[in-house]
Amino acid sequence: MSKRDYYEVLCVEKTASEVEIKKAYRRLAMKYHPDRNPDDTEAEAKFKEAKEAYEVLSDAQKRAAYDQFGHAGVEQGAGMGGGPDGNFSDIFGDVFGNIFGGGHRGERVYRGADLQYNLELSLEDAVHGKTVKIRVPTYVKCNKCNGSGAKKGSSPETCSTCHGVGQVRMQQGFFSLQQTCPTCHGTGKVIKDTCDACHGEGRIQEHKTLSVKVPAGVDTGDRIRLSNEGEAGQNGGPPGDLYVHVHVKPHDIFTREGSDLYCEVPINIATAALGGTLEVPTLDGRITLKVPPETQSGKLFRLRNKGVRSVRGGVQGDLLCRVIVETPVKLNARQKELLQEFQATLEEGGKSHSPKAHSWLDGVKKFFDDMKQNIGS
Ligand SMILES: [Zn+2]
Ligand SMILES: [Zn+2]
Repeated sequence: MSKRDYYEVLCVEKTASEVEIKKAYRRLAMKYHPDRNPDDTEAEAKFKEAKEAYEVLSDAQKRAAYDQFGHAGVEQGAGMGGGPDGNFSDIFGDVFGNIFGGGHRGERVYRGADLQYNLELSLEDAVHGKTVKIRVPTYVKCNKCNGSGAKKGSSPETCSTCHGVGQVRMQQGFFSLQQTCPTCHGTGKVIKDTCDACHGEGRIQEHKTLSVKVPAGVDTGDRIRLSNEGEAGQNGGPPGDLYVHVHVKPHDIFTREGSDLYCEVPINIATAALGGTLEVPTLDGRITLKVPPETQSGKLFRLRNKGVRSVRGGVQGDLLCRVIVETPVKLNARQKELLQEFQATLEEGGKSHSPKAHSWLDGVKKFFDDMKQNIGS
C-alpha cells in the first residue's frame, strides 16, 4: 500500500506551523470521526490516515525524520492505534473521550538512534581533507535469538495481562481509561527465558570501523553525515545515521578565522627599521614576505589566497601575518656600546626619528599643564 504524503493528507504546506497542523487535523477528525460516520469504511480510512499524519507531524522529532526520510523514517507498523506515547489524545480528550485509545496494535517498528562521533583533526588535515578510520560502538541484531530476545527454543509469549494489545482498560466511574500495560510495558509480549547473549534485548553492542572521507576545508563545528551508520533499528526499522562532528586542534603557528589564517612573525629591530625579506610559513610551504623600511610592531601583512578554501566553496582566503618587533636580549658589551651610540644619534635628530614618542610626550605635557591651570583657577 503506497501512502499519501502526510502534508497532503492534512492539506497543509510543508512549512506549516504546529498550530496550523493541529487545526487541520482537528477539522478532518471532526469530519471523518467514526462516531459521526457509522459503518462508513471510507470515512474510517480517511480518519485513520489523518490521525497517522497528525501523529507524525505534531511531533518535532518524527516530523524531522519524516521530512528527511519520508515514510521510511517514521514507519511504525500497521496499527497506529495510539500507543503508550500517543500524544494526540490529550487535545481531543475533551471532545471524544478515550475513543483514540482503541484499535489493535501491530508490532512497533523503531528507527535506530542517530549517533555522534567527535573527530579531532589537525589544521592541515582539516584544510587539505583526509580519509580517516574511526571505530564506533553500535548495536546489531543478536544472531543467537535472531533479535527476539528469547532463549533458543523458546519465543516471546503473548502478554497475559493485556492479551498482546499492550494496553489495558480500567473502569473508573463512568469513564473507561486506557493505560500502557504494566506487565509488558506496551510491547504486548513477555519473554520468560531471556537469550543469554543479549539478555533479552534482542541486540548486542559491537564496534565497527568506518572510513570517513573528510572533505577539504572543514572547520570546527562542521559535521559529516554517514547515512544508515547509526544504531540498528528495532523490529526491522531502518538504522539511524552517524554524525561525525569535526574539532580542529589548535595549531602551533596558525589560527583560522573563516577562510583566513593568522600568524605572528617576530622580527628584529634592524629589519623593522631597514626593511628586508622574511620567510613565512604557509600550509603549502614557505613563501617570502617583503617587509618595507620603517615597519612598526603589530603591522599586519595580507598574503592573498594563502589561506583556506572553505568546504562550502568560495574563494580561497588570505594569510595574515602580524609582525612583532622583538627587543634584543642578552646583549654583549659591544652591542650595548653600539646601541648607546645609536641612541645619541637619535637624540640629535630630535623629533624626526620617533614621531610617535614625541607626540605622546607632548600629549602628556599638555595633560599636566591643563591640570595645573585648573588647580590654579
Ligand atoms: Zn539474543
Ligand atoms: Zn501486556
